[in-house]
Amino acid sequence: MDKSYSIEVKCLFCDATLKTGEGLEHQSGDMIKCSECGELNDYDSVLEVAKEQGIELIKNELEKDLKSKLKNLFK
Ligand SMILES: [Zn+2]
Repeated sequence: MDKSYSIEVKCLFCDATLKTGEGLEHQSGDMIKCSECGELNDYDSVLEVAKEQGIELIKNELEKDLKSKLKNLFK
């Protein structure tokens, strides 16, 4: 697998993509203000959601990969 995954962090309130800014370092405990709804998102919670989505994404990719490999076995 040589794919790169981009995982977006999303506002917990309105689902808009949060712009964390290039080179902007966020730390545990930080609050990220949503540019859409103005709500403050807890950085840790936002990361947690992004992580789960990332795991789901990779799981799906692996499954696809595995299925095509298995198919090739019986050619
Ligand atoms: Zn929002």
